[in-house]
Amino acid sequence: MTDIPVVDLKAQYASIKSEIDAAIQRVIENTSFIMGPEVRNFEAAFARFVGVSEAAGVASGTAALHLALLAAGIGPGDEVITTPFTFYATAEAIEQAGATPVFVDITPDTYNIDSSKIEAGITSRTRGIVPVHLFGQAADMDAIMAVARAHGLWVIEDAAQAHAAEHRGRRCGSMGDLACFSFYPSKNLGGYGDGGMVTSSNAALMARVRRLRDHGRIGKYAHLELGWAYRLDALQAAILSAKLPHVEAWTAARQAAAGRYDALFADSAVMTPVAREDNRHVYYAYAVRVPRRDALLEHLAANGIGAVIHYPIPMHLQPAYREMGLPRGTFPVAEMVADQIISLPMFPEITPAQQQRVAETVLAFLADEGSQQ
Ligand SMILES: *Cc1c(COP(=O)(O)O)cnc(C)c1O
Repeated sequence: MTDIPVVDLKAQYASIKSEIDAAIQRVIENTSFIMGPEVRNFEAAFARFVGVSEAAGVASGTAALHLALLAAGIGPGDEVITTPFTFYATAEAIEQAGATPVFVDITPDTYNIDSSKIEAGITSRTRGIVPVHLFGQAADMDAIMAVARAHGLWVIEDAAQAHAAEHRGRRCGSMGDLACFSFYPSKNLGGYGDGGMVTSSNAALMARVRRLRDHGRIGKYAHLELGWAYRLDALQAAILSAKLPHVEAWTAARQAAAGRYDALFADSAVMTPVAREDNRHVYYAYAVRVPRRDALLEHLAANGIGAVIHYPIPMHLQPAYREMGLPRGTFPVAEMVADQIISLPMFPEITPAQQQRVAETVLAFLADEGSQQ
């Protein structure tokens, strides 16, 4: 039995090796390693891909979130509403900006922030909302934008898992005031190291993002304000430029794989992902809910199948947020989902045979569980 990884980056490299190798060689010979033409070209291509007028390459998705919040003027004393069911970086960046994350529970179908509960989380200190397009499915953006506009709040999309995802025909990354992408290697568009991008069609906000990512610089030697060393390097930009034209095909392959899993798990105890009709889900993760999740994770590992938990600990129960004093029971939907969810192997190159084996292993475990009860 061959092992099935949760993500197979080797298979992807093998499929585009000559393009990647040429891109890397080009940068080494050109020696413009930080920013420069490779980064500018990738920014222009990525802005077109998202459907915005501007994109600024940065050091990571976390840096993108930090800079977007700062560019919006969010800082100490401010509150920012976000989801408790996300990767820690979403909340962490709000704190890096000096502000306080305020969590609002999720919906049990998409696992995204429940837009109907946002209003109740707004106080006189609220300055922004950071919706996350979790697992590759857009948050409820029209409702979120309506609440934000009614209260004069910034909306900063966390699109780290949502390259090429769409909501009502618009791309994730083009709907809020600013949006943030990650090019962490395992993301739907991933580099060979860290990388990220801020996108927006607001030129003033983007000018501030560009300044803040590069030491607050306004000229070769002049610095206007405190900034960061948050630039995207040229090697990553060249690799990402080579990969970008493949994202559409990779997305279609992910969707086809998701359809095959859906069919394999039909009429079982496995709760498969719910893709809303007005969303183009890009399946960064194929996350299912199952009974006895932790035992299943062990069973899969014992059978050579990779799986991960996105995410076992909701933000309000994180050790880093103990001082918030939000006990278990505060966000019941996020807590329930965190206890039941598991992400199965999902990558564009996954084969039907591999998926068959994943499904058989999962279903055999569940049947066994059933007979023991
Ligand atoms: C990956 C990720 C980030 C952080 O991106 P990095 O590039 O790893 O810094 C932020 N938010 C979400 C939802 C992510 O999945």
